Amino acid sequence: MEYPPQLSPEHERDLLAIASDYSLSHGLVLRPLSHSTTTSIHAPYSLYPSPFPRQLFEQALRIQESYNRLYAKITTDDQFLERVVGGNVTKVDEFQRNLYRIWKQVKQEGVKQPISLGIFRSDYLVHAPQNQSQETSPSLKQVEFNTISSSFGALSTRVSQLHQFLVESQQYPSPHPYLSNPTSLPENEALEGIAQGLVDAHYAYKNETGSKDARIMMVIQDNERNAFDQRLLQWQVMEKHKVPLIRIPFSQLRTSLSLSPSNSALLYTPPTSSPSSPSASPIEISLIYYRTAYSPSDYYTPHEWSTRLLIEQSLAIKCPSVAMQLAGCKKVQQVLSTPSELERFIEGEEEREELRKSFVGLWGMEDGNEGEELARGEPERFVLKPQREGGGNNIYRQDIPPFLSKLEEEDKTRGEGEVKGKEGYILMELIEPPRGMTQVLVKAGEEEGRRADVVSELGIYGVMLLKEKKEEEGGGCEELRNETVGHLLRTKGRESDEGGIAVGFSVLDSPVLV
Ligand code: ADP
Ligand code: MG
Repeated sequence: MEYPPQLSPEHERDLLAIASDYSLSHGLVLRPLSHSTTTSIHAPYSLYPSPFPRQLFEQALRIQESYNRLYAKITTDDQFLERVVGGNVTKVDEFQRNLYRIWKQVKQEGVKQPISLGIFRSDYLVHAPQNQSQETSPSLKQVEFNTISSSFGALSTRVSQLHQFLVESQQYPSPHPYLSNPTSLPENEALEGIAQGLVDAHYAYKNETGSKDARIMMVIQDNERNAFDQRLLQWQVMEKHKVPLIRIPFSQLRTSLSLSPSNSALLYTPPTSSPSSPSASPIEISLIYYRTAYSPSDYYTPHEWSTRLLIEQSLAIKCPSVAMQLAGCKKVQQVLSTPSELERFIEGEEEREELRKSFVGLWGMEDGNEGEELARGEPERFVLKPQREGGGNNIYRQDIPPFLSKLEEEDKTRGEGEVKGKEGYILMELIEPPRGMTQVLVKAGEEEGRRADVVSELGIYGVMLLKEKKEEEGGGCEELRNETVGHLLRTKGRESDEGGIAVGFSVLDSPVLV
C-alpha cells in the first residue's frame, strides 16, 4: 500500500493546517529567519511519521547505555586522550588544540569538580546497500556520537506528540496499517529525560557543596534560531522541577563570571539592568550546560576562550567538560574502530560485539595507513570528516581527491617532517540508506507540503552523570546515572548530503515502527 497515502489536495491542505496549528500551539517552533523576538514559525516537520524497522530501533535503544559508558570512560582516560587527541590532531587543528590546552592546564592545576554531566546523542542511519549479491537485511550504523550541545530533545518530543495526536484523532485518511495503531509510535520522553539529567546534576552539586542558592546556567549562541528547543527545556526544569535555570549568551560571560576565592565556585554577576535579577549580587552556578562552544565560530573573540578556561577551572559541574568534548571528536570514533581499542573500555565480549556491529569502516589519514589510498582510489564510497560539529563540514565522494591535493599543497608551507594537514581528518565509509522512502515535508510559509524521496537519521539521547576517580583509587570513573532517555528522527531529501534542521535541509520526524 502506498506510503504516505496520496490525499486529495483539499484533504492534504486540511491535514497540513491542523498539523501546523498543533505545532504552533505546542511549541514545535523556531525563531524566524529575521530573528524577530516577537514571532515564531513552526519548525519544519514531516506530515507523517516515517517507517523505521522496529528491531533496529530497539537495538539502538539497547546499546545506548553501553555507548554512554564507553564515552564516560574515554572522558576519564587521560592516557587515551593524550595519545588520540593530543597526538597529531592537535598539531594540525587549531580548534582541537585550544580545547586540549585548556584540558591540560586544568589537569595540571588540579580539577576542582570531578563530576560531569553528559547529555549525549548517538546518531544512526539504516544501512541497506543496493548492489549486494546475497540478500542481507538492513542494519543499524552509527554516523557519529555527540557529547556536546546535543539538540532537538524538546522538539523531538513535540513532533512525536504531533504524529501521535494525528493518529489518535484519526486525522489521517482511510486506515493505512502504519497509521491506525498508536502503539507503533514509540513514546518519546527526551524532553523530560534531559531535564531530569540537568536537575540530577544540579542536586549532585548542591549535595556536595551544601550550596543553597545555586542555579543552572544554559550558555547559548548569539542569535539562536533554535531558541524554543532550549526554552522548553528551561521551562521543564523550572516549572516541573522547580530548579532555577538561567539562559545566557556565551558572549555575555566575558565580563560577568568570576571564581569564589574560597572554593572556586563559579559566580555570575548579572548586568544590573537585567529584569530577571534586579539586584546585582553574584549568583552561584551549579551546572554549566553548553548549547554553544562546539564550533570555532562560537568563540567570537579570544575572550570566549578565556571564559571557557575559567569555567573549566571552577567548581561548577560542566555539561560537558572539555575532556568530554574532546572524547566526542571524530578521531576518537575512528580510533575506537581499530583492533583492541574497544577492549580498553568495555570488558564483556558480547557488549563489545553489540557496539562493533554499529560501526562502519573508518580510517585514519596518516601516511602508511590505508585511508589515503582508499580515498583516492574509490572516493565514491566515502566521506571525509574534519574534527568539527554542527553540520556542513564534511567532504563527500568525488570532492575528496581534489580536497586532499589541496591539503597537500598547503603542507608545502609547513616544514619537512611536520604533521600533514590530512591527519586532522578521518575517512568514513558511506552508509547507504534504504531507497524508495517518501515523505511529505512541511516548511513554514509554504502552503503545500513537498513530497520527496527521503533519508531518515535516528538519534538516541543518553544521560550520563559521572564522577572521575582519583589516581589513588585506580582512576576511571563511577557512573552516578546512566540512562537512555528518548529519540530524534530527522528526515532530509535524498539529494542533500547533510542534515541540519535549523539551516533548512531537513525536517523533524518521528518513527512508526514496522
Ligand atoms: P556533524 O558533526 O557536522 O553533525 P556528521 O558526522 O553528523 O557531522 O555528518 C553530518 C551529516 O552527514 C549526517 O547527519 C549524515 O546525514 C551525513 N553523513 C555523515 N556520515 C555519513 C556516512 N558515513 N554515510 C552517510 N551519510 C553520512
Ligand atoms: Mg551530526
